Amino acid sequence: MISLEQLTKVYETSSSRTTVLDRVDFSVASAEIAAVVGPSGAGKSTLAQCVGLLERPTSGSVVVNGDDLTRLGERDLRVARRRIGTVFQSDGLFGRRTAAQNVALPLEYLGVTTAEKKRRVAELLDRVGLGHRADARPHELSGGQRQRVGIARALALRPSVLLSDEATSGLDPASTASIVALLRELRDDLGLSILFVTHEMDTVLQIADSVARLDHGRIVERGRVVDLLRDPSSALGAALRPARPAAAAPAGATTWRLDYVSADVPSDWPTALGSALASAVSLLGASIETLGGATVGHATVAVPEAVAHRVPEVAAALGLGARPHDALVPVSGPPAPVTPDAEKELVR
Ligand code: ADP
Repeated sequence: MISLEQLTKVYETSSSRTTVLDRVDFSVASAEIAAVVGPSGAGKSTLAQCVGLLERPTSGSVVVNGDDLTRLGERDLRVARRRIGTVFQSDGLFGRRTAAQNVALPLEYLGVTTAEKKRRVAELLDRVGLGHRADARPHELSGGQRQRVGIARALALRPSVLLSDEATSGLDPASTASIVALLRELRDDLGLSILFVTHEMDTVLQIADSVARLDHGRIVERGRVVDLLRDPSSALGAALRPARPAAAAPAGATTWRLDYVSADVPSDWPTALGSALASAVSLLGASIETLGGATVGHATVAVPEAVAHRVPEVAAALGLGARPHDALVPVSGPPAPVTPDAEKELVR
């Protein structure tokens, strides 16, 4: 379990002072995968580094498994850090060492016996599906495999918390999917709290239970992924499910964007919508999927102008939020601005 309270990081030089993290409150429960997204320079990496206390926060607290790391002296901190595994974008493997020797490194620092080290390394490489590549050097492995070795090494000291900083960025989609599957499996089996820093929205959908958006060092929006996807007013929800161009509407029809805003949208809603409106409904585009057992999605439909005024009410009865299509923010447009008041509300 990770809990950050009023976490602030200021970089100061003789001529400048930059607040990179500004009173961030954030938590990741046991067995939760929490993603942090945000534009480049938002403070995501600094946040991950402060959680591992690789960077000392300027103020605020970092509580991991009940210990406030900011209050620990160097010796206790070294011990506490063992419970935090870290995986970076660059795998950070030593090129001259084999996969097994890389995984063994943290155990060597700890001085475990040779027999124990051998057993544990074999177990870890098996865990990440690389038992058969123990003797391979990093350059003989694919990017995804190297990242797996990095994950095995991060697990060597049996951490309860895993920090992943852009660990899938730069990997091809298939390798990303396999790393995502591995991290989810590790979360399930070991009950890890995983802080997953990324700029890839697709990966957030695949991996995360919750997501927070960091902007200029502040968390401006956060929530469960499913809840954000079901909230048509959420900028983060919109960024997670970008609208794709829909087919053209028939002449004389009005176009509507329908969002799954409830858990109980019937799968035959297009038929039900047509029946309730006593009118033809044209399906112009849709994206519907299941995330962690919950169905989420959105669709673009066209209905004859004569019944358009009834769409919001009929759609609501089916668990769908309806907006006239022209009212939508353009696909390539900037996300809706967050007003200072709304921001205060969100970080509370
Ligand atoms: P992100 O991971 O979201 O791209 P970072 O956490 O890497 O953002 O950086 C956030 C801001 O902090 C950037 O403006 C960066 O220039 C600044 N920053 C990061 N590390 C340092 C440092 N050691 N000294 C001064 N500024 C830094």
